[in-house]
Amino acid sequence: MALKCSLAALAQLDQTDPDAVQALLQTCVATLLDPRLWAWALYLTLGCALVGALIGYAKGRWLAGLVWGAALGPIGWLVVALQKSNLPECPECSRHNLPHAKVCRHCGVNLRAAALQSARGQLKRHERSRGW
Ligand SMILES: [Zn+2]
Repeated sequence: MALKCSLAALAQLDQTDPDAVQALLQTCVATLLDPRLWAWALYLTLGCALVGALIGYAKGRWLAGLVWGAALGPIGWLVVALQKSNLPECPECSRHNLPHAKVCRHCGVNLRAAALQSARGQLKRHERSRGW
């Protein structure tokens, strides 16, 4: 009869028999050191990291998504999905764009000109408030 590493085998174990205890221990160690188990865990971790990186990429935080996904799996995906977006925001429509986008993909505004106007507008308002 082949011994399996399970709670049922542990419950049926005759604890007064050292050979039976040793055999179950060796079976459980062999199960834990099985390369198929480690390959499965590695692929699962890589898959979770990849999904996390994809979720993070949509928020401009792919590295945080990769780390959170690899560390916590689906919980890490949630953590990344609930984080604030790191992508630049359009001053006109307040929606997020890719990091180096020149034109807003939602409303078509030139982002650099809008950012400059916004900075100039802030400077002018600041100068007026100082009496200029
Ligand atoms: Zn826009």
